[in-house]
Amino acid sequence: MEAFPATPFAEEGLEEFRPGSDKGKSSKGGGFQSMGLSQAVFRSIMRKGYRVPTPIQRRAIPPLLNGSDVVAMARTGSGKTAAFLIPLFEKLKEHSTTVGIRAVVISPTRELALQTQKFCKELSHFISPPLRFCLLVGGDSVEDQFELLAANPDVLIATPGRMQHILLDAQLSLGRVEYVVFDEADRLFEMGFATQLHTILATMPSGRQTALFSATMPGLLADFTR
Ligand code: AMP
Repeated sequence: MEAFPATPFAEEGLEEFRPGSDKGKSSKGGGFQSMGLSQAVFRSIMRKGYRVPTPIQRRAIPPLLNGSDVVAMARTGSGKTAAFLIPLFEKLKEHSTTVGIRAVVISPTRELALQTQKFCKELSHFISPPLRFCLLVGGDSVEDQFELLAANPDVLIATPGRMQHILLDAQLSLGRVEYVVFDEADRLFEMGFATQLHTILATMPSGRQTALFSATMPGLLADFTR
């Protein structure tokens, strides 16, 4: 897996990817079928109509499947959502009856969170017992969101403001989180969510796996990434 040490945020243990780079475009062995995915996830990908992984998927999925933390430079349209969701599904495998959220996807906006939830349902279609998703975004009723949380979700998809609010009000525990994604991380920081992100992260186990996807890497975000 190629890292790009020339960049200011290339850290040991972190992998960085750039869509459009020639590296990773190898014609052999780069398909979904060679990634060692479970039948349920592979069939869900095929059902969605994805035949060939996009460059970001080819480069981000294998290290995420191996348990590495990943920093990926990826824009909307690159296929980044599937790049972090496919390893998430492989890690979680199926719904767990033990109470506790095991994966969190943090999105800058309600619209992106809704879109991610839709991908979650589609790309986990054949997983059984089905994974449960909970969307926590501003604009929806807090009471309804408390009810969703009571249904023992496996995955939380949230905007930082609403998530922090619910963390405090519902005493939501993130102590079982194994996998966290910061999606469109540059926008999360542009929108001034740095404090909330630090608060949220502090409540998760330090051994969790982290994926950070961003179109750009401004200084503040590079510091956070470290
Ligand atoms: P995203 O960058 O995650 O917003 O994805 C952009 C679009 O690419 C979405 O419509 C996805 O359904 C689609 N897409 C993602 N991965 C693939 C793939 N491997 N093959 C074809 N389309 C894909």
